[in-house]
Amino acid sequence: MSDRCQVCGGQEAMPMVHQEPHLWVRCPDCNFAWLSPMPDSHAQPAGERDGTAASCIARHVDKIDSRMRRSRRRVRRLARRMPGNRLLDIGSNIGCLVAAALERGLEATGVECSPVLVAEAQKRYPRGRFIAGALEEVDLPAASFDGVHCSEVIEQVADSNRFLAAVARVMVPGAILYLTTPALREVTRGNDPARWRHFGAPDHKLYFSPANIRTQLHKHGFAEVRVLFNFGRGIKLFATRAG
Ligand SMILES: [Zn+2]
Repeated sequence: MSDRCQVCGGQEAMPMVHQEPHLWVRCPDCNFAWLSPMPDSHAQPAGERDGTAASCIARHVDKIDSRMRRSRRRVRRLARRMPGNRLLDIGSNIGCLVAAALERGLEATGVECSPVLVAEAQKRYPRGRFIAGALEEVDLPAASFDGVHCSEVIEQVADSNRFLAAVARVMVPGAILYLTTPALREVTRGNDPARWRHFGAPDHKLYFSPANIRTQLHKHGFAEVRVLFNFGRGIKLFATRAG
């Protein structure tokens, strides 16, 4: 993959920090940051690389109460804005968001790269529909969702243009996207790159700012991008699929 900026197409990639063995670069024009060289596609999900399926699931189940509370809150906010009742969760993990959507009477689908997590989610929430694979590769019909939840996923894809095109494709005009992702400013606090927080490579491959993610979403057919105030922490936003 080329080292052009995915957001503005700029051709200059300025070295930002070495976190051995990884080099992070950024675009001097729009401040988008990425891992260089960029891996070709989705790396294997971290949980499955680092341990057994059981330990991976156990880590998620541990936090299930707080995850369910957060999922219900997010579904409530999404459902208020959605033009219909079909919700897609990208990166559905063990299925909390899908479960919260089902509780609310929505039709809910989860897409998740890890087959282990998909199997666990389907077992826990049999009324949900869970699909294993990357969104860009699974076969979902176009314009088939009224809402999409995508939390802490986009920073893990190699090509945010291909990913956002796939997100936009499955949404009906007027559908609502709720997206969260870490912000570059969170991991680059202070003047000394040696003291910056670990960027999370190779699972994490990209970092946006509130300004350049807005540009990126507009490019892919989203309007009314509303970035929520979040005390200088990660990016949280709502965006509407334009008609
Ligand atoms: Zn750029």
